[in-house]
Amino acid sequence: MTVITNHMPTAELQALDAAHHMHPFTANAELAAKGARVITGAKGVYLTDSEGERILDGMAGLWCVNIGYGRDELAEVAVRQMRELPYYNTFFQTTHVPAIALSAKLAELAPGDLNHVFYASGGSEANDTNIRLVRTYWAEKGKPSKKIIISRKNAYHGSTVGSASLGGMAGMHAQGGLPIPGIHHIDQPNWWAEGGDMTPEEFGLERARQLEQAILDLGEDNVAAFIAEPVQGAGGVIVAPDSYWPEIQRICDKYEILLIADEVICGFGRTGNWFGSQTMNIRPDIMTIAKGLSSGYQPIGGSIVRDEVAEVIGRTEFNHGYTYSAHPVAAAVALKNLEIIEEEDLIGHVQKVAAPYLKQKWEALTDHPLVGEARIVGMMASIALTPDKEARAPFATEPGTVGYICRERCFANNLIMRHVGDRMIIAPPLVISPEEVDVLIDRARIALDETLDELKRQDML
Ligand code: PMP
Repeated sequence: MTVITNHMPTAELQALDAAHHMHPFTANAELAAKGARVITGAKGVYLTDSEGERILDGMAGLWCVNIGYGRDELAEVAVRQMRELPYYNTFFQTTHVPAIALSAKLAELAPGDLNHVFYASGGSEANDTNIRLVRTYWAEKGKPSKKIIISRKNAYHGSTVGSASLGGMAGMHAQGGLPIPGIHHIDQPNWWAEGGDMTPEEFGLERARQLEQAILDLGEDNVAAFIAEPVQGAGGVIVAPDSYWPEIQRICDKYEILLIADEVICGFGRTGNWFGSQTMNIRPDIMTIAKGLSSGYQPIGGSIVRDEVAEVIGRTEFNHGYTYSAHPVAAAVALKNLEIIEEEDLIGHVQKVAAPYLKQKWEALTDHPLVGEARIVGMMASIALTPDKEARAPFATEPGTVGYICRERCFANNLIMRHVGDRMIIAPPLVISPEEVDVLIDRARIALDETLDELKRQDML
C-alpha cells in the first residue's frame, strides 16, 4: 500500500484528492481540474500548505478555531481521555465524567436558567434535535398543533435535511427536495441590500414585525418556535439594525413562541461575550452550540435548554439521540477549551484588544473604491463590495462573481477571507494580535486593489 504523507509532492496529493475525496459545498469537477490547496499544519492564526506558504486564516477554519491552532493542552487531554475511556454513551442509565463536567460548566456559562444540555456531533445535528425537541415540548404541554418553526431567508442552520430546511439558503433548498413541511421563512434584516429608502431603524422594525404577521397568518396555535442566528454568519455577517432584536423578543414573549438562538458561530466569545444572545440582549429558550465549544479540535455540538423546557421534556421518554452524543473525548476536549478561554481571558482580549483594533482597521476599508458598508460585531465582520456606494448598488454580473474574484485574490495573497455573494467576510481566531490584524488588513487591501484591477480589465465596473 502506498503511504500517503505530507512529504509527497503537492501534485500527487492533489491528484489523489481529486480521485477519491468529494469536497463539501464544492463543484468537484472544477476543483479537480485546478487542484485543492493542501493544508499540512497550523499554529496560532496561521496555516501552512504543502508548498511551505503561511496563510493567515481570517476565518478560523469554519468560524470555529476560537483559541487558535496548535494548542498542545487539548491534544494532551484527548490522549488522556482516549486511554481512560475512549467511548461510552449516556443512553441507558449511564453517564461519564466528561459529560457531567462539561454540562455543569455550560450551565454555569450560559445566561439565565439555560441549564441543561443535549449533545450532538455538530450544529446541524443539534438543530435537528431542536426541531423534535420543540414539537415534543408543545405536545407534552397539551398543544400538539404547535409545530411550525419560523426561520429566516438566507439563514444557515446546517446541512442535514432538517437543519437545511430550517435554514433559508435558496441554493440548498433547490437540491434534494427541501424544505420539509412545517418550516416557514420570513425575510432577513439585511438593510444594505434590502432596506431601500427606509432608515436602518425603520427597516429593522419592519423585518421583525414580519414575525408577528407570520404568527398571525399561520395561527398562534400552530407555531412552535422562531430560530435565528444572533448575527447571521454564513448569510454574509448580516448585523440586524438595533431596533430588530428587542421587537423579536417582544413578539416571542407575547405569543408564547420558543426562541431558539443558533449560537453555533456567535457562541464562545465570537461577538465579545460568551454568547451572541448576551451581545444582542435576547433571552432564548434554547441555544444551539457547536464550533467554538471545542474550538474545532473535536466534533461536538448541542442544545442548551432552559429549566422549564428540560422539565417538560423530562416528563416523557424523548426518543432521540446520537451514538456520539456527549462523546467523552470530544466533551473532555471541549471542557479544556472552555477553561483556556476563561483562564486566558480571551473574551477580555476580544473586548479590550482585538475587536476594537480590528473594528478601527476594518471600518477604514470603506475608503476603498469597491467597499460600501463595513459591519463588525466582536470578531466577525463583513464588507459589501459595490460599484456604487451611494446607491448601495449590486454589480451587473451574476451575484458572487466579484466576491469570488476577491476571494481568489485573497487566497493568492495568503489570506483566507470568504465571500458570500459579493460580501467578503472574516471571523479570525479570537487570539489574533494587533500585529496579526495589521497583516490581515494589509493583505485584504492588496486583494481589493487586485480585484479592482481585474474588474477594470474585464470591463465589469
Ligand atoms: N448553525 C450555524 C449558525 C452555522 O453557522 C453552522 C455551520 N456553519 C451550523 C449551524 C451547522 O453546524 P455543523 O456544520 O457543525 O453541522
